[in-house]
Amino acid sequence: MAKWVYSFEEGNADMRNLLGGKGANLAEMTNLGLPIPQGFTVTTEACTDYYAKGKQISEEIKEQIFTALSQLEEKQGKKFGDTESPLLVSVRSGARASMPGMMDTILNLGLNDVAVEGFAAKTGNPRFAYDSYRRFIQMFSDVVMEIPKSFFERILDEIKEGKGVKFDTELTADDLKEVIVRFKAVYKDKMGVDFPQDPKEQLMEAVKAVFRSWDNERAIVYRRMNDIPGDWGTAVNVQAMVFGNMGNTSGTGVAFTRNPSTGAKGIYGEYLINAQGEDVVAGIRTPQPITRLEEDLPECYKQFINIAGKLEDHYRDMQDMEFTIEDGKLFFLQTRNGKRTAQAALQIACDLVDEGMITPQEAVLRIEAKSLDQLLHPTFDPEALKSGLVIGQALPASPGAAAGKVYFTSQEAKTAHEKGERVVLVRLETSPEDIEGMHAAEGILTVRGGMTSHAAVVARGMGTCCVSGCGDISINEEEKVFELGGHVYHEGDYISLDGSTGKIYDGDIKTQEASISGNFGRIMGWADSFRKLKVRTNADTPEDAANAVKYGAEGIGLCRTEHMFFNPDRIPKIRQMILSRTVQEREKALNELIPYQKGDFKALYEVMEGRPVTIRFLDPPLHEFVPTEKDDIDDLAVKMMMTAEEVQEVCDSLHEFNPMMGHRGCRLAVTYPEIARMQTRAVMEAAIEVKQEKGFDIVPEIMIPLVGEKKELKYVKEVVVETAEKVKQEMNSDIIYHIGTMIEIPRAALLADEIAEEAEFFSFGTNDLTQMTFGFSRDDAGKFLNEYYKKKIYESDPFARLDQSGVGQLVQMAAEKGRKTRPDIKLGICGEHGGDPSSVEFCHKVGLTYVSCSPFRVPIARLAAAQAAISN
Ligand code: ADP
Ligand code: MG
Ligand code: MG
Repeated sequence: MAKWVYSFEEGNADMRNLLGGKGANLAEMTNLGLPIPQGFTVTTEACTDYYAKGKQISEEIKEQIFTALSQLEEKQGKKFGDTESPLLVSVRSGARASMPGMMDTILNLGLNDVAVEGFAAKTGNPRFAYDSYRRFIQMFSDVVMEIPKSFFERILDEIKEGKGVKFDTELTADDLKEVIVRFKAVYKDKMGVDFPQDPKEQLMEAVKAVFRSWDNERAIVYRRMNDIPGDWGTAVNVQAMVFGNMGNTSGTGVAFTRNPSTGAKGIYGEYLINAQGEDVVAGIRTPQPITRLEEDLPECYKQFINIAGKLEDHYRDMQDMEFTIEDGKLFFLQTRNGKRTAQAALQIACDLVDEGMITPQEAVLRIEAKSLDQLLHPTFDPEALKSGLVIGQALPASPGAAAGKVYFTSQEAKTAHEKGERVVLVRLETSPEDIEGMHAAEGILTVRGGMTSHAAVVARGMGTCCVSGCGDISINEEEKVFELGGHVYHEGDYISLDGSTGKIYDGDIKTQEASISGNFGRIMGWADSFRKLKVRTNADTPEDAANAVKYGAEGIGLCRTEHMFFNPDRIPKIRQMILSRTVQEREKALNELIPYQKGDFKALYEVMEGRPVTIRFLDPPLHEFVPTEKDDIDDLAVKMMMTAEEVQEVCDSLHEFNPMMGHRGCRLAVTYPEIARMQTRAVMEAAIEVKQEKGFDIVPEIMIPLVGEKKELKYVKEVVVETAEKVKQEMNSDIIYHIGTMIEIPRAALLADEIAEEAEFFSFGTNDLTQMTFGFSRDDAGKFLNEYYKKKIYESDPFARLDQSGVGQLVQMAAEKGRKTRPDIKLGICGEHGGDPSSVEFCHKVGLTYVSCSPFRVPIARLAAAQAAISN
């Protein structure tokens, strides 16, 4: 018989895959002898089984749950549903990778109309008993039955108002009894049946709800954003309740062993007296700093600090802990390696190395590569900030600066962002439903919530600026307006946020790029010493290239020459070239372009100071360059001595039904070899001149795009070689140059051994290769891919994350075939995937020479390459 349920005593931290992160750590802490309320974990395999059986929990699993439950009853000396001393539990989800706020917890499960009376008598605290029961009804209805929270919140508000009180802690036992009657009425009204009184039924419904929540929409979005596979499943933890809401010697809180924003050593956290767990996170009351606990309950504080230190030493990493104090007795409810900003991650990793806790290799593995993005995020321009008008201040929840137009809903923020607007999302408080709007926003401002609120945690994870808990705001979300510091803002008005100071400014303040700290250099230095892959950048301009070099780029993997033609000075020449009726005419137009191209290449070579530069020849279909405006057409007609109609006709004739698969790439050079001739001359003259002028050791790399057949490459290559040799002779140079190709058509991957006979290097153009392998266009796929995620056909966007099983197979095959023909062939990747950590790891595994990515992702690629080398 398979084992589906483990008591906390049976597990340990290494069983994360089976027990989920929360369950594995609860087990580990239990075994360390820490004060943990007892309980058991239903495994992630049980979740997978639930889905495999068409969303059914098997009898075997049910039995094991009930066996574990009776063992728990014995340990606690309490009975489930008992009228005298009822056992109450929490039901908590916990996947392998932590997914904060993605799945909901149910507290106080086991209460019913009779047990609550027993509970009241037993604790001698009826107010507390009824408060627990009303919380349970509320959570069970919301999480398990999906009855909107607002129904219950409204009742609570009404009753509070009726009694003239502000906080729910001020409600009496009798008030709460009234709340319960009304809550149950809502339940009956919405569900058509009474609130379930059988605790075992409550438990099984709750377990199922946790399993179901694995597949809710926000969980799917979160998984896609964080590369978490859909088939892992979540575990369920059933744990005896401890109560932070028993009065003023009770409370609950969250704390980190180091500051999650800056990384500074020292306990950092918040707690609330007389409250249950979710109150802190939900931001309903504003919590107190943890240091206040020292005054309120000094013994508990001492014990807490002691255990926190132990946990950090044990896990050798910054811990994020949840605790509850029940009538002066401290319990730990969770620990995990804490989420942190990139800045904090660097600080903590360097400190831990200096404290002798971890090695540099471990330090490199500790930094989430994608998070480096945050370090490159903006701050305010100091000059612009001087005249900035501060309209309010709240908690600095996630660093960075943001300026944008105010939107009040996630959906509207998303839509505005898609239109290209900069957006600041302003909410009363955020919830996981807001995830897409938060993602679209430059900055997030919330009225409620502390530093550990949903908005704060999620924003830090995304590296998005966030200011939270701004109680001074009066907001009307329906009317889409808020007021702060005497100013009124409607949808579409600009504000600016500083997530590092918590300041809120009027208007649109200019932001500027971030600068990088010493820790960054240290970690990157370690990373560079471990990685095998080289990292290049995709850059067409000297500015981008210089930026990339600053971030550590070791060369240019892709310079797209067509971008140089869209300049207003040059486009008329390109158009003349396209409209030419004879080779002579075309050559004349092209010759006029040489100085421009050559100038561009010289500037690039100068910035790159001898680092390799791969220049790709003209790639897009020619119709992308032809004029559409009447004025431009008329101009061109005059230059070409044609009528406007004739020009229009030629332009129309270039129309293709499927330009992505049309007359582009090397096909242009096959039809018009003079284009390749012009580009070769520009490259060679530029390289030779810069080499002579500056003494850099330049070896030009010319890359022919969209090749699918060896003879096609051979034809273009001969044109290039002939011109290159001619230039060498003219300039009396013995410069070495390489000619290679992109592998971006499946046929080229299949015949890579033949193509390698002509190509001195391959660069995998995984954007086109993905497009052509899947047979869908990257410009249109966005329209339907969402349905594919929802229906669980695809888990992630194959244009963002390399499809290793399909496209990856082509890459691997081509790499092997290429090496068979030419053992020293240089292999690189220049698609968007070059800056995606999981794709970089793949490139490491198949033994590519380098990855090439956009300048801002160069540090990510360097780190990801080191991580791949260390862990493989
Ligand atoms: P999340 O993963 O969203 O943090 P948790 O399962 O950790 O969800 O629980 C949410 C809140 O409920 C936490 O603050 C936690 O401390 C509290 N909680 C969970 N289980 C118990 C329990 N057995 N007794 C008291 N509080 C609990
Ligand atoms: Mg938790
Ligand atoms: Mg391409």
